[in-house]
Amino acid sequence: MRLSNMHLKTLREVPNEAEIPSHILLLRTGMIRKLVSGVYGFMPLGWRSLRKIEEIIRQEMDRAGGQEIHMSAVQPAELWEESGRWYAYGPELWRLKDRNGRDFCLGPTHEEIFTDIIRSDVSSYRQLPLNLYQIQTKYRDEARPRFGLMRSREFIMKDAYSFDKDQAGLDKSYEEMYEAYEKIFTRCGLTFRPVEADTGAIGGSNSHEFTALSEVGESEIAYCEKCQMAATVERAACVDAPAFSETELPMEEVHTPGTKTIEEVADFLGIKQEETIKALLFVTYDEEGKENGYVAAFVRGDRELNMTKLINALKIPEHSIEFADEEKMGDATGCVGGFTGPTKLHDCTIVVDSELPGLKNLCAGACKVDHHLKNVNYGRDYKADIITDIKTLKAGDPCPVCGAPIKHARGIEVGQVFKLGTKYSESMGATYKDENQQDQLIVMGCYGIGVTRTLAAVVEQHHDENGIIWPMSVAPYHVIITVMKENDETQMELAERISGELEAAGVEVLLDDRKERPGVKFKDADLLGIPVRITVGRGAADGMIEYKLRRDADKEEISAEEGVQRAI
Ligand code: ATP
Ligand code: MG
Ligand code: MG
Ligand code: MG
Repeated sequence: MRLSNMHLKTLREVPNEAEIPSHILLLRTGMIRKLVSGVYGFMPLGWRSLRKIEEIIRQEMDRAGGQEIHMSAVQPAELWEESGRWYAYGPELWRLKDRNGRDFCLGPTHEEIFTDIIRSDVSSYRQLPLNLYQIQTKYRDEARPRFGLMRSREFIMKDAYSFDKDQAGLDKSYEEMYEAYEKIFTRCGLTFRPVEADTGAIGGSNSHEFTALSEVGESEIAYCEKCQMAATVERAACVDAPAFSETELPMEEVHTPGTKTIEEVADFLGIKQEETIKALLFVTYDEEGKENGYVAAFVRGDRELNMTKLINALKIPEHSIEFADEEKMGDATGCVGGFTGPTKLHDCTIVVDSELPGLKNLCAGACKVDHHLKNVNYGRDYKADIITDIKTLKAGDPCPVCGAPIKHARGIEVGQVFKLGTKYSESMGATYKDENQQDQLIVMGCYGIGVTRTLAAVVEQHHDENGIIWPMSVAPYHVIITVMKENDETQMELAERISGELEAAGVEVLLDDRKERPGVKFKDADLLGIPVRITVGRGAADGMIEYKLRRDADKEEISAEEGVQRAI
């Protein structure tokens, strides 16, 4: 491609509203063009990079068993009424009416649409599992569209939906998507961290956000280098259970008749309260991942502060809580008891006060009247989503899992994976017949990647004061050939020969043959960030060129042949 023919308009000045590097650089390079607030178009170079990201996503999604389809962005309100989200979604939902007054929205996401497809197309267990995805334009009327592609009102998203027979199938689908996401973001050249994410009403350890590390990111994450805990700060949680340690004692169920206070329980259990008893509240889940109860918890310290916050954090209806005898509890302890359904310790949400140190040898309710469990340990005895949003975790606070000081980072949420369970199949009636001709709810997962936001995240992580430094995988072109004097025949001939040889080998080449001063061309080459720069100048007569990588300061004088070899 000759730059002299390309529709390219770089900018020296960008509007003041562009505050962060990716926004500034994508505008300066003319890769994106603003139409109105939060709505952008893509010019040739920007579109090329975007398509490369899409292609990486497609390849990895297909490899993981996904099948691409393409649905409309226009969605009828009826489906949203069925799922209950037409009213719940709020002003971010971009609503519109047709000429007959029928309600529609521009899709911010497509759970309803995909569930609708599946409920009409799938009837037998033989058709499952399935994973369908699309790469498509989404609309969210964001309260504060800003930072260019980072938070826009129209953006491109890859959204995938998995449909399985049961929870075990969903777990597998989720795992596959998680792994595909790791490959996708790695191939895009991003430094990122998967972290446990808020699952809103669904709960459980059922969602991860993929966060590209960046100071300008709007997500805040907390992570621990000792035990691998990594989560958004609001919901610091555990990615991997810590390994069994010597300090973990065997779990025991103990009969503790008549105990009401933490001291009484501690006495019964023969444990030193200060060492072993931590604030704990377990919410329990059934096989399908639905909340079905909670297990007794003990809280040490300021009871009111802890208990109220714990209960609020878990959104437990107040009437379902039985407080133990307040009088007897004294000022140092509290106790919440009771459970509303069959419980198991294995998949639960725990709220801990972030000021408390690591969770080791805990005391918990045993889901059995007048019984407690002693030496309950995370990872070995239960898996959990550990929430510390009672207080936002700050850098240096003890890790809720192991007690080591946690680290803090900012990042950009480039993707999220989510176990939906039967939320949509239940409200919208998506079922299949199992081997025994019984109707069963389809178990779903959903998986989003912000394609346009990923482009911005790449620029955020790969730039310097002179411009973008594209990773090869998503660069709009691989090589830029800068011709010093475009009216010098020898130089042009050599440049064209190199360009032809590279293109024949599949290398994408931009040939800067514009009638501009060399200084302008070099500045633009730096700004555009094409990974390899070949300069054809005076040495052309001897078949020599200058070879330079955008990311390095050094340049080298080498023969054109060697230049071609290196660039292939
Ligand atoms: P955020 O927390 O940033 O508002 P979200 O959690 O609401 O994002 P999801 O519903 O998880 O977003 O959508 C999937 C992906 O779509 C996100 O991980 C993000 O990469 C992208 N995305 C969401 N909202 C926007 C937006 N306004 N502009 C660009 N990309 C977006
Ligand atoms: Mg959002
Ligand atoms: Mg989010
Ligand atoms: Mg999200």
